[in-house]
Amino acid sequence: MESYYYYVGGEFRCGKQKYEVVNPANEDKFAFFFETEREDLSYTLEKAKLAQKEFSLFSFKERAKVLRDIANVIFDNVSKLAELETKQIGKPLKESLLVDIPLGADCFNYYASFVESLEEKYVYTLTGIDLIKYEPLGLVGVYLPYNVPLMIFGFSCAPALAGGNALIVKPSEYGCLSILELAKYLDRLDIPKGLINIVSGRGEEIGRLIAQSDIELISFTGSRKTFEKISKEMVDSPKKTICELSGCNLALVFSDADIEKALKNILASSFIKQGQMCIGTSLILVEERIYDSFIRKFVDDTKRLNLSDPSLAETNIGPLPTLEHLRNIHNKVKDMESKSGKILWGGEILNKKGYFYPPTVIEVKEIVYEEFFGPVVLVKSFKERREIEEIIQLNPTGLVLQIWTKDLIYAYKLSQLAKYGTVWINSFAQMDASTPFGGMKKSGWGRNLGKWGFFEYIQPKHIGIGLKDTPVSGWFGT
Ligand code: NAD
Repeated sequence: MESYYYYVGGEFRCGKQKYEVVNPANEDKFAFFFETEREDLSYTLEKAKLAQKEFSLFSFKERAKVLRDIANVIFDNVSKLAELETKQIGKPLKESLLVDIPLGADCFNYYASFVESLEEKYVYTLTGIDLIKYEPLGLVGVYLPYNVPLMIFGFSCAPALAGGNALIVKPSEYGCLSILELAKYLDRLDIPKGLINIVSGRGEEIGRLIAQSDIELISFTGSRKTFEKISKEMVDSPKKTICELSGCNLALVFSDADIEKALKNILASSFIKQGQMCIGTSLILVEERIYDSFIRKFVDDTKRLNLSDPSLAETNIGPLPTLEHLRNIHNKVKDMESKSGKILWGGEILNKKGYFYPPTVIEVKEIVYEEFFGPVVLVKSFKERREIEEIIQLNPTGLVLQIWTKDLIYAYKLSQLAKYGTVWINSFAQMDASTPFGGMKKSGWGRNLGKWGFFEYIQPKHIGIGLKDTPVSGWFGT
């Protein structure tokens, strides 16, 4: 069995508590990792402070080199990293290999170019010279979700490093191996020891200690439920937070849409990574006139999805990461059925080794704003524009909205009404390192990616050099 150590202050260490990792596709134990000890976290904070002090003196060009080096080690080792994400989480290998990890690595290249082109500004005002500097915040605690560890590592850590901060990275206990493997490659880079620390272990243990610690910023990606706990944990030492939370994402299909394109994309957005994708679709709303034919085709396409070993290229659906998650999903499906949801496909635990759950389509009579975070999608029809406008606005979450129609003027009007961080019109997963990503309403605040991501991780400082009197000079006549 492979063992994975946590990485603190430039050293690999192990704690007393050891966790075995099970491959959800075949239930074999194949690795273990350790929970970071409380004393090791104190050591990490000490070392990270020193490393951050050193790193803050790096020029923008020198920071860019560090970022490019990180991008390169991720790309150079993408096969091993992708294999680990698949073995621990169960998502199809091609998704980690071709999408998730490259997008995470691209963020480091993007912020390398961004920081290289950055100029701290001198502004000449009526009274003097004003210098605006971009200062780091200091220590940033980065919480990663289990589903796309390296992607979110790129989303959060690349802008945080570009801003000159040091990192305490807390991967999820259900998706930590690729991040712990990355630590081995980071250790070989010429960067201050303690600049990037990876602390493994349970959320309620080591995650809680980070929230309570003396760091300057928390960058959290995960569920709203956990973020509410973290908010309580840091009540005695409040800090800036960026939080990217869950969402009940809607896909709207109007009768004039390009149906084939909508079908293909909504199928992907419903079931990619077994439905464990924050941008995935929770509820499909189809205009009544085309509802029956659209849903028939959607269910037919769902039936054809290949549920199999996630390391195979032809696999569409792999297993869920744990038996507990599978049971939770199944209970939620049964609960929905008992509340008059009609299962159109799936909904049963398979008699198969591994934690596989079939892609499941449930027709509902009432609107339910719920994120399953599993291979389950709800479907419902709608009659008129006023109804759909209300549904969009009543959603308590605001992460992603998909609109499928050829009427771009109306789609634009809807996008204006919608309080969602991302609106895709006739598109899905249209994102890259340069476009902002984040939620509105209960889906969080703060933005990752693009220049907006960078400005979350710095604090602008104004230094005013006086050359003339300001309006209040001599205010009291002295
Ligand atoms: P989670 O909330 O269970 O865990 C997130 C992180 O918090 C993990 O590192 C975990 O170990 C840690 N944690 C758990 N309990 C903690 C506690 N009491 N104190 C401190 N830390 C704690 O999330 P998850 O199940 O890993 O990820 C899935 C969720 O993340 C979904 O709801 C999904 O929508 C969301 N997500 C959002 C985005 C986004 O960008 N908005 C991206 C990916 C995932």
